[in-house]
Amino acid sequence: MKISDIIKSSGKSLSFEFFPPVTPIGEDRLLERINRLKAFAPSFISVTQHAGRNTLEKTKHIVKKIHAEMDVTVMPHVTCADPRRAELEPVINYYKELGTENILALRGDPEEYEPGVFDGETHFRYASDLVRFLKTYNNFCIGVAVYPEGHIDSPNLGIDTAFTKQKIDQGAEFGITQMFFENFYYYQMMERFQQDRINVPIIAGIMPITDFQKAERFSDISGVEIPIPLFTKFEEMDSSEDVIKAGIDLASEQCLDLWENGVRYFHFYTLNRDEAVIQILNNLASQFDLPWTK
Ligand code: FAD
Repeated sequence: MKISDIIKSSGKSLSFEFFPPVTPIGEDRLLERINRLKAFAPSFISVTQHAGRNTLEKTKHIVKKIHAEMDVTVMPHVTCADPRRAELEPVINYYKELGTENILALRGDPEEYEPGVFDGETHFRYASDLVRFLKTYNNFCIGVAVYPEGHIDSPNLGIDTAFTKQKIDQGAEFGITQMFFENFYYYQMMERFQQDRINVPIIAGIMPITDFQKAERFSDISGVEIPIPLFTKFEEMDSSEDVIKAGIDLASEQCLDLWENGVRYFHFYTLNRDEAVIQILNNLASQFDLPWTK
């Protein structure tokens, strides 16, 4: 089913992001985790495809497996970096033949590639070019990445919003945000989007902190602020159990605040784990009576 239709009919959305496992045992574990998370009736599962890390075949493989075995809507990520532009068509046809109706279209961040790889010839320059290309296939429902704090390379938030609008105007039907730890960035972004008439659903991307060093690294790479009080609190913790517990509490409070402010679309960056996300969703259901499973 198309994600745009799921969101329209239910008025809310809950989704989980995974990356493709490397080994068969990793695959089995992932399917077990998805099975457990299915108790929360997710609208969809998404699978990353890391540009430059040769994960395209792994993404294709696990998407096929989830699609065949899990009875859940699965959305592959497709980047402008891998495959090259000339090799994109067979990949898209593969997803089309599987019956996949949704794609998250991204430029990608290929660490191993030379600067200038997105030259518009061998590779599309921007995600908006990929969206335009994908819309000619199978009438996919296309999602795109959006950035509450602005994309790290954007000169300012106004320009960032204008480029986001370009992706929507090319046919993207929903956005998923970069992780954020300060909700006001999300609220401010939504005001900018409203002013620029970006009216598609914007799904809030939540990353529970379960490993502070990892979270710090992701934040650095993507230009996401970890507020100083949060930074200090996590840095002073000396056990990984304390970090996980604090990360679960923090994400639960973050979701609650978003919910109380009218947000109904949530996407969890699971980092291929389910324990923290399950606890957060249980917290929200039991303490705050949020209807995750209704
Ligand atoms: P774009 O929308 O193309 O934007 C890239 C930059 O170009 C921005 O600074 C933008 O402002 C600028 N820009 C856009 N259009 C124009 C224009 N016309 N003229 C000038 N400048 C312009 N990466 C992966 O490799 N694999 C994944 O699976 C993956 N999944 C992700 C999922 C989500 C939800 C998010 C938020 C990010 C994900 N990423 C992934 C990271 C993403 O690829 C990077 O953030 C990347 O740097 C930008 O991708 P984009 O699709 O937003 O690019």
